[in-house]
Formats: sequence, structure tokens, C-alpha cells
Amino acid sequence: MSRFAVRGSGAYWSVLDGGKAVATFSTWWKADDHADRLERQARTRVRGCLTCGSQFISEGPHNRMCAACRQQSH
Ligand SMILES: [Zn+2]
Repeated sequence: MSRFAVRGSGAYWSVLDGGKAVATFSTWWKADDHADRLERQARTRVRGCLTCGSQFISEGPHNRMCAACRQQSH
């Protein structure tokens, strides 16, 4: 199940974060676009690389090495 959801009708569309409305838009697609962006933000984190310790943007828990180290391990 996704953390973010879009609910509404007519000219009122809300983006819900775990059931709580965090933003309201006048069209469904704007709300959907915003929910997409929040979803991506929630997934990405700055982490320290497991191998060299440098900071990089991780796309999820599976992603623990920076781009340079991942290239070297292949
Ligand atoms: Zn590294």
C-alpha cells in the first residue's frame, strides 16, 4: 500500500499522507503529480556509502553504496 493517496471530487482534490490531507488542488492531475513527488521524496535519503563513506542520494534501503563504488563492484 502506498503512503500517499489522492481523494476528492469536482474542484477539490486532496493529497493524503497516511490519511491526513497535506495539500489541496483544483484538478485531479495536479494532486496526483504532487503525490508522486512526495512519494519520490519519501523514498530518497542522503546516506553514507558503506564502502567509502561519502554522502550520496539513496533511492531506497537496497541502495547503500555510492555510484562510484557500485561501478567498481561490477
Ligand atoms: Zn562509495
